[in-house]
Formats: sequence, C-alpha cells, structure tokens
Amino acid sequence: MAEFDLVVIGGGPGGYVAAIRAAQLGKSVAVVEKERLLGGTCLRVGCIPSKALLESSHLYEQASHGFEDRGIKVGKTTLDLGAMMQHKDKVVQTLGGGIDGLMKKNKITRFFGHGRISEPNLVQVDTAEGTQDLKAANIMIATGSQPSTLPGVELDGDRIGTSTEAIAFDDVPKHLVVIGAGVIGLELGTVWRRLGTKVTVLEYLDRILPGMDNEIASEALKIFQKQGLEFHLGTKVTGVKVARKSCEVSIDGGNSIKCDRVLVAVGRKANTEGLGLESVGVATDKRGFITVDTHYQTSVPGIFATGDVIGGAMLAHKAEEEGIACVEQLFTGYGHVNYNAIPGVVYTEPEIGTVGATEEQLKERGIEYRKGVFPFIANGRARAGGHLDGKVKILADASTDRVLGVHIIGAHAGELIAEAAVAIEFGASSEDIARTCHAHPTLAETIKEAALAVDKRAIHF
Ligand code: NAD
Repeated sequence: MAEFDLVVIGGGPGGYVAAIRAAQLGKSVAVVEKERLLGGTCLRVGCIPSKALLESSHLYEQASHGFEDRGIKVGKTTLDLGAMMQHKDKVVQTLGGGIDGLMKKNKITRFFGHGRISEPNLVQVDTAEGTQDLKAANIMIATGSQPSTLPGVELDGDRIGTSTEAIAFDDVPKHLVVIGAGVIGLELGTVWRRLGTKVTVLEYLDRILPGMDNEIASEALKIFQKQGLEFHLGTKVTGVKVARKSCEVSIDGGNSIKCDRVLVAVGRKANTEGLGLESVGVATDKRGFITVDTHYQTSVPGIFATGDVIGGAMLAHKAEEEGIACVEQLFTGYGHVNYNAIPGVVYTEPEIGTVGATEEQLKERGIEYRKGVFPFIANGRARAGGHLDGKVKILADASTDRVLGVHIIGAHAGELIAEAAVAIEFGASSEDIARTCHAHPTLAETIKEAALAVDKRAIHF
C-alpha cells in the first residue's frame, strides 16, 4: 500500500499549496483530486475564469464606448462570445498545466479520483480503475465549497444556474436576474451587463456586499447603478419557475420578474459529503463546516482541515495561508495566519480592495479611531487615466495611530490593497505610510494622501 507523511484531499488552492509546502519540508505527499484539472473552484470555475471574462468584457466595453474622448476612433465593435470563452478556457487550461508541473517538480504524487477517509490513517481513492488505499500519517481535508441555493429555487444547471453556468453562457442573455448582491453577483452581473445584457440584482438585505465597510459599499452601489445594473434591495426571492427558455422569479409580496436566465449567488456551503467524516468522527458545526482548533486539527487527531470547508472568508488566498500554516505547524512546530491582514477584492470597475477592520466593526468593538479619506478625483494619475470614481479610506487607532483598516474603491484597488496589507502585517501607523515616499504620478499616492488625511494634513485635497 502506498504510504505518505501527508495525504491532501482536494487539489484547490488550499490543498495543492499545502502539498507543495509539505514537500519543501522534505515530506512525502499525495494529493487526491476528483477533477482532471488541479486548482479547484478558483481555477476551474471561479476566480480565474471570471477574471478572464471581466478583463475581456472590460476591453469590449472600452472599445465600444470608452475611447472617443481620448481621440481614438475605432469602427463598430462586434462581440465574438465564442472566442472570448475560448480565451478564458485557454487561460484555465494553461494554469492547470502549470500546477501539474509544480506537482512533478515537488515530487508530489497525484491521485485522480474521489477521496474518502475510511480509517483515521487511511484514505480510499475511487478511481476509474478501481479503489486504491493510501496510508497517511496525516490527512488534510481541503475539499472547498459549492454554491448554495434557496428554498423554492431549484438549480437546473442551465436557465437557473450558479457562477459555474454564468461563466459559460453560450449566448448573451437579454435579461439576467441575479439573486444576491455579494461578490459573485456583482462580478458576473458586471460581465454580462458589459456584453449587453439587462441585469437585475435582487438582494435580501437593504445594502450590497454585506460585511464590507458600509461607506465603500454605498459608494459602490451608486457607481454600479450609474453603470446600468438595476438593484432591488430588501427583496426576498420566494421561487423561480422555468418554461422552456424563459424564467419567472417570484418575490415576496406577490410580484414576479420575467427573464431568460437566473444566476443564484447567495453564498456557498462546505463540501463534506462522501468524505467518510461521520465514520471516523470528524465533527462539523451546525452550518456544516468542519470544526478545527488553532492548529487546523479536526476533532480527530491527525486529520486536519483548511480553506472553505472550515468556513470563514471563502477566499483562495485565505485557504492558501491556512494550508501553509497547518503544514508548518505540523512539521516545524510554527505557523500562523494573521486573519486581520487578509485582503478582499471585488473585481468590478472600479475595483474594491479592503483589509482589516471596517468602520462598523470598530464602532461595535468600542475602539476609538481616526479616519483619513482621499478621493481618486484629486489624484493626477487617476485623472490622466480617466479613473475619477472612488476613494481610499484609512482607519487608524486614535491613541497609537496603528492602521486598523484600509478600504479602497477605485481603479486597480485590487493591486493597491497589497500595500495596506503589508502595513497592517507590519503593525504600521498611518504616519509610517504618510512618511513613505510614493512615486509620482501613481494611484498609490491616494494611499499616502489618505494616511496624511488621518492627521488632517492631506496635501492635494
Ligand atoms: P456572498 O455571501 O458574497 O453574497 C451572497 C448575497 O446573497 C448576500 O448579499 C446575501 O444577503 C444575499 N442573499 C442571501 N439570501 C438571499 C435571498 N433569499 N434573496 C436575495 N438575496 C439573498 O456570496 P457569493 O457572492 O455567492 O460568493 C460566495 C463566496 O465566494 C463568498 O464568500 C465570496 O467572498 C467568495 N468569492 C470571492 C470572490 C472574490 O474574492 N473576488 C469572488 C467570487 C466569490
């Protein structure tokens, strides 16, 4: 029987990155993954394909209406959706091939099949050729999550779909109803709006992007409305019916909306089915996430879990950090994730980047803070690029000046937020950022200016 120091079940960012780290530490490692392509939801049907479509649809929108006032005349723009999808698929395949290469380079054994824990030190892999047993000194469950749905809304894998379907529509819907104004709803709603779809977003709460700093989310709502997304907030969906190519979405109060496709984006649930958790006694919480201790160990010694399957922010980079920390704790005795320094990015236009505490969280915790805000409109590079929407907001401790949270809505916020994450990780004060020379003209100067604004001494506003 094949024997390993670590068997990882799930080849997504949580699993394959942990496997590489364990291999770097000299351990024998196997990854069990039921899909041919490694990379998990993120690579196959999540982060990467959606970003390919966001980039392409942005270019299409720019070419269609974004160039005239820059003195660039192009002919009539036409869309070849098939080619756009092919580009996306090629990106996914190429990156997937890259992960296969990383597995080989690190001498990690890959098993293609469904993994199940049959005993605390035994993983059974159901492959096309039959069942194979792997003896494992340690097991890591990194099986991720899958889209949730609502009572009365049955996913049919076609007209009523999740993000998986919405990254692969074979034609441009006339009218797409998106249920849920979270990250997926807004990103994929944006893709299809740009390609010509009327997009209606139905959200249960009276705000979009729950959990995000309210001021930034409110600004985002205004911008997205201006771009043409239609929002119905405080709206509870009670059911969806499909009749051939048409859908009818019922909402509380008796009204309904007709459309040709529905995207259900109301959150995700843990992938724990068929893993044999009950038989070995791995505990889950009442929402179905696997419970772990600070070392990512489950209720069973030697069985660990990381990433979406343990809950918290469902982000590829959070899963990666957990996978690495778990492996390092296990094999070196040290390893840590600073949950306060995990950035979040929404890849709309403008992008939203956020790290650390929101203003609402600081108020709730009774922490005194000072706030510095700087608008993109007052930044030279933003003006030159036509990126007038957005702002940077820095929240710093009122007595120590330590940076507690940074929230950005604006062009390239997803890249800009890295500086803020480094600042929080290093325990920087807003004065540290304010005194750091930022190249001119760059969008990053908005962060320096917001840091100056904490002390009411912004130069350009
Ligand atoms: P989400 O939790 O971000 O948003 C779901 C939204 O649906 C919420 O606003 C919620 O209030 C709303 N909702 C719930 N029930 C509803 C109902 N009955 N009617 C109307 N609205 C309802 O979930 P998501 O957008 O599906 O994303 C899933 C996960 O994937 C999230 O954790 C997200 O962070 C992650 N993700 C991240 C990125 C990124 O980092 N860029 C991209 C995609 C997904």
